[in-house]
Amino acid sequence: MELGIAGKNALVCAASKGLGRGCAMALAAEGVKVTILARQQKVLEQTAMEIRDRTGVEVNTVVADITTEAGRDIALTVCPAPDILVNNAGGPPPGDFRDWRQQHWFDAVNDNMYSPIDMIRRTLDGMLERDFGRIINITSAAVKQPIGALGLSNGARSGLTGFVAGISRDTARCNVTINNLLPGLFDTDRGRGAAALIGGGSGLSGDEYIATLPAGRLGLIEEFGATCAFLCSQQAAYITGQNILVDGGNYRGTF
Ligand code: NAP
Repeated sequence: MELGIAGKNALVCAASKGLGRGCAMALAAEGVKVTILARQQKVLEQTAMEIRDRTGVEVNTVVADITTEAGRDIALTVCPAPDILVNNAGGPPPGDFRDWRQQHWFDAVNDNMYSPIDMIRRTLDGMLERDFGRIINITSAAVKQPIGALGLSNGARSGLTGFVAGISRDTARCNVTINNLLPGLFDTDRGRGAAALIGGGSGLSGDEYIATLPAGRLGLIEEFGATCAFLCSQQAAYITGQNILVDGGNYRGTF
């Protein structure tokens, strides 16, 4: 399927590895010029080179921490008018809520709620003026099916989800959509760690737990990236304000 987004500019946050990398690669494969961002330069430049080699598209890199004002300033200096914004950052640490104090919560809310909201604030009006925009927030299946030990993530990401629900209808008239992608367990550093954590709760190793998933395996970042690219397509203009699970069927509800 031709997605109709070749030549657009995408800013993909937290994209040197994992899900962000999968999104950047899939967008680049559609001819989208991508700016990828992460904190560690070496891995970031390696990923940029691989995207260029595989797709031939222009790839810019930004070494920055997206959870800081300064990091977001730099990102938008390098890519001032993104047509596509993929909001992503590292997830909060697991733990017992009894141990979390104000600063733990402030950090989680800053990293996984405020930072993407600030990126939306800084980019949305430009998209509305240009009559095209696609914003994807990488959140988590835990928004729909919370995991106790990931309480900081459950809480902060639910706040982002509520905010997005409130603004994502006002933008559709200008061909700007805002959707959340909810990963289940993916084959990334974070995903393998989460599998070990969840499995550990039932006395299983990470691999034993992964074998119990409906698909019997972790998701691939290429599968996640392809979903992201479709949501960024011209064809997806009528999809906004949605929370799309990509979890291999692990959420067991009817809807
Ligand atoms: P990952 O494989 O560990 O990759 C994280 C990427 O984000 C790296 O490129 C990392 O590079 C970058 N990054 C992290 N913090 C950053 C920051 N503050 N500023 C800029 N870049 C940053 O993680 P992942 O599995 O792709 O997960 C991505 C997000 O999805 C996380 O929030 C995670 O909690 C969530 N999630 C993942 C899964 C899963 O199964 N993988 C499931 C549910 C939710 P640097 O370290 O160089 O910055």
